[in-house]
Amino acid sequence: MSFTALYLTKTDGAFAARLRDDLTDEELVAHTGDASVVVRLDHSTINYKDGLALTNRSPVVRQWPMVPGIDGAGTVELSTDPRWQVGDQVIHNGWGVGETHWGCLSQKARLKGDWLIARPAGLSTAQAMAIGTAGYTAMLCVMALEDAGVRPDSGEILVTGASGGVGSVAVALLSGLGYRVVASTGKLDEAEYLRSLGAVEILDRAGLSTAGKPLQKERWAGVVDSVGSHTLANALAQTRYGGAVAACGLAQGMDLSTSVAPFILRGVRLLGVDSVMCPTARRQQAWARLAKDLDLAKLASMTRTVGLAEAPQVAVDILAGKVRGRVVVDVN
Ligand code: NDP
Repeated sequence: MSFTALYLTKTDGAFAARLRDDLTDEELVAHTGDASVVVRLDHSTINYKDGLALTNRSPVVRQWPMVPGIDGAGTVELSTDPRWQVGDQVIHNGWGVGETHWGCLSQKARLKGDWLIARPAGLSTAQAMAIGTAGYTAMLCVMALEDAGVRPDSGEILVTGASGGVGSVAVALLSGLGYRVVASTGKLDEAEYLRSLGAVEILDRAGLSTAGKPLQKERWAGVVDSVGSHTLANALAQTRYGGAVAACGLAQGMDLSTSVAPFILRGVRLLGVDSVMCPTARRQQAWARLAKDLDLAKLASMTRTVGLAEAPQVAVDILAGKVRGRVVVDVN
């Protein structure tokens, strides 16, 4: 039985992305090494990193040909891993899948048992992919702030890149947990959307986007930053004494030009957040929290669904910063 997937090639330096409906199990096995669990996928999604892979904008894909897609949700179809049985409902995020191992923008994936986690009861495959790596990373950021002692009564929380995937889920989660959330966005016409997710105030991101002083007026008890560059530097400069900044992204840039002043004069903590190689126990904790703490009506309001054929255009749009919230891909 053949199956359909997005298929990326680079031949003599020429990159191409196309839909193939004639992929075979033999090809899947040949490109997935010693993976031991075949998953029949229902849904995948487009994260920022999928955007980079699908447009070849940065060297995310390191083996060719590649089936992209870092996230997937579906049902175990075959397994030689004793931890996973046929029929189990699973989700996958990260682990270099879609980069060095064929991924989930596909009707079928062959994945390692170590990489999978059980889909939490209460979340459908579509909802799990509406969350996806972006939402699970937002939860990791919230957990990092909590671990640093930030609580709803600590003060205001800044979320940057607020209308994006990580940002939208972070706003919804934090407001649901009782925090006073201030959303920074370049899309001021999405102010009502951000308020509907729970933001109490909207900031024009332009105020954070250019180089500023390393110490500015103290405002934030905590920050979730998916933007990096000057935005992160300014967020650090505005964080209150003893506050914490969870940094997970680079939508503005990889650079970070600041000084040690916020750290040594205000005891500000910069918390790095990685979702890709995050240990399984922490992932399970994050997904359990998402199933418990994320308002599913808000999740629905930030999500739209496309088919596999539309994914390449969504990739272009996400890199242009034009996508609001999250995009689920129905692979069937
Ligand atoms: P999205 O594109 O959905 O969101 C990014 C948002 O950042 C945009 O919507 C926009 O929001 C803002 N933005 C875009 N360009 C700029 C710019 N030049 N300057 C300032 N703000 C900008 O992406 P995701 O939410 O999926 O991912 C966000 C970032 O987090 C990416 O860099 C991604 O690689 C990273 N990430 C990291 C993970 C990890 O494991 N560490 C996991 C998941 C994501 P607005 O218009 O509201 O300002």
